[in-house]
Amino acid sequence: MFAEIALAVPGLKPLTYRIPGGERVAKGMRVEVPLGRRILTGVVVDITGHLPREIRNLKSIIKIMDQEPALTEELLVLGKWMAEYYYCSWGEALGAMLPAAYKPVGREMISRTELAKQAVLPRGTARRLMERLSQGALTRRELLRNFGAGAARVLNELHSRGLVNVEIKLPGTRRQPGSENHSVPTDHPPVLNPHQTTARECIWTALDKDKYAAFLLHGVTGSGKTEVYLQAIAHTLEQGRDAIMLVPEIALTTHIRARIAARFGDRAAVLHSGLSLKERAEAWSRIHQGEARVVLGARSAVFAPVKNLGLIVVDEEYESSYKQEDAPRYQARDLAAVRARALGAVLVLGSATPAMESYFNARRERYTLLNLPERVDNKKMPEIRIVDMLREISPRKGPPLFSRQLLDELEKRLATGEQSILFLNRRGYAPLVMCPECRRVITCPDCSVSLVYHRVDDNLRCHLCGRTSPPRPACPQCGAACLRLSGAGTQRVEEELRTYFPSARILRLDQDTIKKRGELEKTLESFGQGRADILVGTQMVAKGMDFPRVTLVGIISADTALHLPDFRAEERTFQIVVQVAGRAGRGGRPGLVLVQTMNVAHPVITLAQSQNYPDFFEREIEQRRLLNYPPYARLASIICRSRNPQAAWNLAQKVSARLKRAAGPQDTILGPAPSPRERVARETRFQILIKSTSHVSRSRVLGALKGLVPPSGSKMALDVDPQNML
Ligand SMILES: [Zn+2]
Ligand SMILES: [Zn+2]
Repeated sequence: MFAEIALAVPGLKPLTYRIPGGERVAKGMRVEVPLGRRILTGVVVDITGHLPREIRNLKSIIKIMDQEPALTEELLVLGKWMAEYYYCSWGEALGAMLPAAYKPVGREMISRTELAKQAVLPRGTARRLMERLSQGALTRRELLRNFGAGAARVLNELHSRGLVNVEIKLPGTRRQPGSENHSVPTDHPPVLNPHQTTARECIWTALDKDKYAAFLLHGVTGSGKTEVYLQAIAHTLEQGRDAIMLVPEIALTTHIRARIAARFGDRAAVLHSGLSLKERAEAWSRIHQGEARVVLGARSAVFAPVKNLGLIVVDEEYESSYKQEDAPRYQARDLAAVRARALGAVLVLGSATPAMESYFNARRERYTLLNLPERVDNKKMPEIRIVDMLREISPRKGPPLFSRQLLDELEKRLATGEQSILFLNRRGYAPLVMCPECRRVITCPDCSVSLVYHRVDDNLRCHLCGRTSPPRPACPQCGAACLRLSGAGTQRVEEELRTYFPSARILRLDQDTIKKRGELEKTLESFGQGRADILVGTQMVAKGMDFPRVTLVGIISADTALHLPDFRAEERTFQIVVQVAGRAGRGGRPGLVLVQTMNVAHPVITLAQSQNYPDFFEREIEQRRLLNYPPYARLASIICRSRNPQAAWNLAQKVSARLKRAAGPQDTILGPAPSPRERVARETRFQILIKSTSHVSRSRVLGALKGLVPPSGSKMALDVDPQNML
């Protein structure tokens, strides 16, 4: 018997291996196989009794890792669809579904085999390694620590010669009884308002029909979308089916986690990045065995191995974090639709600011639109005021960080004990460091972006490659001393805030403050319990948080994203203003939002002020139609990169020539042109953009790249439906 094995190697089709006699292998099982000099884990995607053609030197499966298939037929098929749509290999797609399997968790013990005792030992590192192993088994990490990273290759070689044994113990395949905490549901569904009730009834009716249906739940911030999701999930469970709920970032949605746990007890499993690998593998295995039937998680939870999927909810579906930025570059919201359709399940996308693509689908009646136009419990929408920062500029000091109005309102909140959130979408202290003499902006030597000054650890840092350097005493161009800091990041907001309000309790939330595990939850918890007055943060503070004591939200600058060279810049600006504003006034008292901007008359700013999504959509969709961008066009972006600029350019030329030859009248090939981020980590990048009127014509064009292998030293990344044009 022979098995087709999909391996997580780019561009590699499934390969045929011999199944060792007497072994039981089924589709969806994980196996170890040799590939060249390496041993890799792959997934069985097909089994045949005979080969269509003779294959010389056919290798055998080394080890079968599962007793039951890890992936169901349905997920294998979804993986194949991903491979075709996103131009990744089938194995890469399956790898994204099975993170624990491809990067084995738990301890990987390496020991000497019986064979090694008689074999003639090799020389060099291999010999020293074998000698070390003769004293007892070691983990891979211990070996690499002792023998250096190069030992990985030596180890693979010894493994393929049968001299060492690699034992991977995946936790959670067998659980100790009593290890689970039996939590009992403690929460009972509240009474819904009429809009929520209508939305729930529509979803329930669709669930009862037992076939594919898709909804877009457009509910203003604070309108009780989560409760509609929870009741839809409860109905799914009553039908004996399973539900998946995706959220953009699980760590930021502690209140949803708590509500899911309270409502569904141990029928729910949470897949989240704060879990240890072992805990994650355990949660995965509870889902796989059908013990957990409600799955809450971020992007990759769309692949949760539930047996009988009835419902997928995608909360805040516009969020760009649903798109994976490394291969396979999938979009979880879109995959949720594909999976729901294939299984006859119900899809619910929800947001206060739907993605243009989703609202467009609702307009075209591909999705049923459900509206929640009011906040729950008759709470009012926050009042949004625009603050013209041009009027605040002082001739000597330039624009201030805080307008007088914002300072006044902050002061009032401090007096009454209410809380405030200040939002600025830039971390660090100063995003620009300039030379006062030659006006040069100090940039990263390896990337084409400016360095950001971090006062906390007093250094200059590149936010693209992570390079840090101490602040230079002099300008690298003209030698002038005293570089000038310009612009503001969250650290500066925090610092200046302390000078105005020395006794205020201030917390900051951005990527720099949450490096340690658990730090994020701690910050949110302490703010939620009222142990701070003001929370300063980046877009993290915009994501679905629910703090009833917050009555003031200040947007330090609504302009940071407005003029980025990305066709989604205005959409993002609208979304972020409305979402951040939505954090205000969720409790008993009304909320106030101050939006500081230099562009008071910009239509996106005024539409965000009136929180008028439909009008924003009308304006934006017209732009998209005129400029031929999604949802009217299908995009793909290709980045060709290399440390050698000429090599990157040559590759880009070759790629674009192939694409242009294959392009028809429905396709436009733009570029190659320097990518907006022309240099990243010493590599020069050229970008090619494909715009097609349909998926079919785009795939025909992309088909022209089949078999193109970049020369060594150059790389090519293909992104289908790119989320980020930078
Ligand atoms: Zn200078
Ligand atoms: Zn850099």
